Amino acid sequence: MIRKCSECTDLLNELVSAMQSDGERLKESWIASGHDLVELREKMLASIANDESIESFTASSSRTAEVKRKMAEHQAQTGHSFFNLR
Ligand SMILES: [Zn+2]
Repeated sequence: MIRKCSECTDLLNELVSAMQSDGERLKESWIASGHDLVELREKMLASIANDESIESFTASSSRTAEVKRKMAEHQAQTGHSFFNLR
């Protein structure tokens, strides 16, 4: 089963904050390339739900990548899972 601790909560909050910050840059280039913001939001939500796509989707965002590294580390050390929330 999924177990969580206060560090999990901190890391998730950090991720959201990092994605918002990186998302501003992402949003600008996304609009510039003629895409729809609704589509972008769906992609971001999907990338949170599916850790396989996170890697490619946020590859260009260093802050998000850093938080993700910490999450992966925490997950490996504790067995806590961030992405199996369904
Ligand atoms: Zn934890």
